[in-house]
Amino acid sequence: MDNNADTNIYDVLIIGAGINGCCSAYALHNAGVKVALIDQTGIAAGGSGAAGAFISPKISKSGELKEIMEVAHTYALDFYTTNFAQYTLTKPLLHIANDPKENEKVKLFKSKTTLEQLSVDETIQTLLSDEALKSEAIFFANGAVVDAQGVCKALVSEIDFFCLKADSPIWQEGTWRVGKLFAKHLVLAIGAYPKIIPSEYVGLRGIWGHRIDIETSTIVPCILHHHVSISPTMQTGVVAIGATHDVHYSPFSGEHYDVKQGHQALLEKASKTLKLNNIKILKDYMGLRSGSNDYLPMLGALVDANSTLNLYPLIRHGQHIHPKDYHFYPNCTMINGSGGYGFVLAPYLAKCLKEHIVDHKPLDEILSPSRFFPRWAKRQS
Ligand SMILES: Cc1cc2nc3c(=O)[nH]c(=O)nc-3n(C[C@H](O)[C@H](O)[C@H](O)COP(=O)(O)OP(=O)(O)OC[C@H]3O[C@@H](n4cnc5c(N)ncnc54)[C@H](O)[C@@H]3O)c2cc1C
Repeated sequence: MDNNADTNIYDVLIIGAGINGCCSAYALHNAGVKVALIDQTGIAAGGSGAAGAFISPKISKSGELKEIMEVAHTYALDFYTTNFAQYTLTKPLLHIANDPKENEKVKLFKSKTTLEQLSVDETIQTLLSDEALKSEAIFFANGAVVDAQGVCKALVSEIDFFCLKADSPIWQEGTWRVGKLFAKHLVLAIGAYPKIIPSEYVGLRGIWGHRIDIETSTIVPCILHHHVSISPTMQTGVVAIGATHDVHYSPFSGEHYDVKQGHQALLEKASKTLKLNNIKILKDYMGLRSGSNDYLPMLGALVDANSTLNLYPLIRHGQHIHPKDYHFYPNCTMINGSGGYGFVLAPYLAKCLKEHIVDHKPLDEILSPSRFFPRWAKRQS
C-alpha cells in the first residue's frame, strides 16, 4: 500500500477492487497509466470474492448479448490461461439443461456453436444422476475455473491500493478527487453497492449468491453446470459447489442470511446432478453480484441526469435526444452489470476501457449505461 501524500496524483482512480476494478487496473497499468485502486474493504471483498469464477460460455439465443459473451469468453480463456495459469484450472465443462425449456436452448446452442465439443465418456456417465442423464447436455472441451481471490490479488500486485470508502467523488478544475487522491479519470467499478454519483436511471440489481468448498471422496473429473455448478478446484480433494441465488435477500437491509439453509439448498441441488460421498463443508463464500435489467454489461460514461433534464426538459415527455447530446460527468466511466459472468466479461471490458482511455477509441454504444436514461426520464414527468 502506498499512502504517501507526494504520490497522490494519478492518471486514473478506480473505485472498487472486484474483478472489474482489478482487470481495469491491470490493463491500464500495463499500458503505462498511473493507477490508484480504492476499495472500502479489500481486494475481492465483494461479489468477486464469492464467485465460483467459472469461465463458461453463456448458453443464449443469437443477439447482442450472445455476440459480446462469445468474444469475451474466448478472450477470457486466453487471458487467464496465458497470464494467470497458476490461478486457473482448465477442465472440460459439461452443461446440463435444468428444465424442459433449457433443453431446447441447449439443443439449439449445440447445433450452432463453433466451440469444440466432446462426447460424455463412461466415467462421467456413471457419476451422473438419472435426471442429469435424461436432460439435454453439451460437453465443451475447454472450460476453466479461476481462483477468484487469488487472481484478483495477482492482477493488482503492482498497483497502488488504498483501503478507503469513497463517498462522493468530487470533480474540480479538471480533476477527480477521492479523499486525498486526485486523477483526471475516474472509473466506477462498485458492483451492486450503493451509488456514489447520482445515477438513479442506471438499472442494476444486486443478487445474493452463496457457494461452498467441500471435501469429498468423490472424484469430480470435469466442471458441471446443472441446477448448481460442481467443480474440482486447484486443491486436490476439494470441490466447489455454487451458487444459489437469492433475489430477495440484501445485506444492506440488516436482515439475517441463514447460512445453514444455504448449505442445505446447495447440497440438495448438487445431489440432483450426482452423488457426492463423505462430504465435509470447508468454507462459505457469499456476496452480491450486480446484473443489469437487460442482461448486457455496462461500460461507458454516466449521464448527469439533472443537467441533461434542465437542458432538455421535454425528454420527460418522450422527446428524443441523441445520446451524444446528453450531459455526461466528465472523464467518468462505469464498468458494471456483469451478472453471473463477471469473470468472463471483465478481461475484455477492461481491454476496451484501456483502449478508450489510452488510445481514445470510442466505447461500444450498446454497453453504455445511458441506454437506461430516456425510459427513466419519462417516469420523472
Ligand atoms: C456466489 C457467486 C458466484 C458467481 N459465480 C460466477 C462464475 O462462476 N463466473 C463468473 O464469471 N461470475 C460469477 N459470479 C459473478 C461475479 O462474481 C460478478 O459478476 C463480479 O464479481 C462482479 O464484479 P465487480 O467488480 O463488478 O463487483 P464486486 O466484486 O462486487 O466489487 C465491487 C467492489 O466495490 C467496492 N466498493 C463499493 N462501494 C465502494 C465505495 N463507496 N468505496 C470504496 N469501495 C467500494 C466493494 O467493497 C467491492 O469490493 C458469481 C457471483 C456470486 C455472488
